[in-house]
Amino acid sequence: MPNYHIWTIGCQMNKSESERLGGYLEQLGFQAVAAAEQADLIVLNSCVVRQSAENRVINKLSALRSLKSLRPDLTLAVTGCLVNSHLGQLKQKFPHVDYFFEPGGCPQWLGEAPSWPVAPEHPAPSVFVPIMQGCNNFCTYCIVPYRRGRERSRPVTELVAEVSALVCRGAREVTLLGQNVDSYGHDLPEQPDLADLLHELNNIDGLARIRFLTSHPKDMTTKLIDAVATLDKVCEHISLPLQAGDDDILKLMGRDYTAEKYRRLIAEIRDSVSDVALSTDIIVGFPGETEEQFEHTIDVLAETGFDTVHVAAYSPRQGTIAARELEDNIPPQEKRRRLDKVEQLQENVVAEINQRLLGQTLEVLVEGKKEDKWQGRTRTGKLVFFSGEGDCRGQLVQIYIEKASPWSLQGSIEANNK
Ligand code: SAH
Ligand code: SF4
Repeated sequence: MPNYHIWTIGCQMNKSESERLGGYLEQLGFQAVAAAEQADLIVLNSCVVRQSAENRVINKLSALRSLKSLRPDLTLAVTGCLVNSHLGQLKQKFPHVDYFFEPGGCPQWLGEAPSWPVAPEHPAPSVFVPIMQGCNNFCTYCIVPYRRGRERSRPVTELVAEVSALVCRGAREVTLLGQNVDSYGHDLPEQPDLADLLHELNNIDGLARIRFLTSHPKDMTTKLIDAVATLDKVCEHISLPLQAGDDDILKLMGRDYTAEKYRRLIAEIRDSVSDVALSTDIIVGFPGETEEQFEHTIDVLAETGFDTVHVAAYSPRQGTIAARELEDNIPPQEKRRRLDKVEQLQENVVAEINQRLLGQTLEVLVEGKKEDKWQGRTRTGKLVFFSGEGDCRGQLVQIYIEKASPWSLQGSIEANNK
């Protein structure tokens, strides 16, 4: 039986696509191996959203060059956002790669492939479900629309069937994925929206939780917020990238909202969805960002109190509008200082949020074991560790929270668990 190994870097979409690709390869008779050296087929699922990610991909590809020369029978394939439409150039640059295929695509050379990679046969309790591909936004700094193309949504009926099947195979929670997930459906004949899809999925028996990410603030509607507030399976957990808290920078980024509009949106979400957890993405050191403009971002972060902040230093991406038109003029050490400041602030904010959970009993979906502790997540996405006898995997348990740090919670299992 041939062996395969998939190396994945990047966002949840890449992780999900690798998971599905693995499932597809197993259907074809391949078997997963942990060590790349033992594989007959190696797939690199790449990310180039920032230069640092691209460097890791290039390093990995160079390391595999020697393996390939030792074992010419090895098949080496690359997918993910490194793959652009200039296949000729890629082949010239990486002659030891046998195949390149588009992000979310299938290894066509192995035979007739489905248009969307198949859903996993043995899903984890919590599983990703890509509901759309691509992005229409062209934020000026971002390479994603150039690599993943325009938005294509999967039909509601197909998604309901897929999620039902995943639940029959043991999944309890789904995270619906899209680069701009709250614009779901506008390209489908009947133009359903994400709220309509959530209503349909909420009716699936045996499914316990639904999450979705990532939402663009310009597409977040009152109808969607109401769906989160009223549908029992939809978790109180919203990911809403701010990117910057200064209007001039937001305009240069092409984000299509102001800091004030963002603040109003957060207020509306908090009014409707009690105990909601919010996460966001921030870019520091965008071209021309002054200290004062950066402080506007700090203001929004301090006021809002996010549960999670993903912060990145601006990295020019060749081919994007920002890389073409704006000079990358914030020195690396200044970008680093701003990044550290955001991280320090966030650590304090989340330490305080998590402290408030001490003494509460929270529902946790158990995802697996780490060393001798079970681990899982609350509806708000908090990581929880606890000790427990028997097999808790895939169960919803009530955990009494006894310890809290900025990164995780610890607790003990309550009697009378489901
Ligand atoms: N669709 C999502 C995120 C996609 S990319 C959104 O609208 O936010 C994931 C994150 O990478 C982005 O949120 C952004 O913070 C970061 N990112 C994208 N391009 C970047 C760049 N050129 N430099 C630094 N960070 C970048
Ligand atoms: Fe990139 Fe903007 Fe699309 Fe997100 S919404 S993927 S940041 S272009």
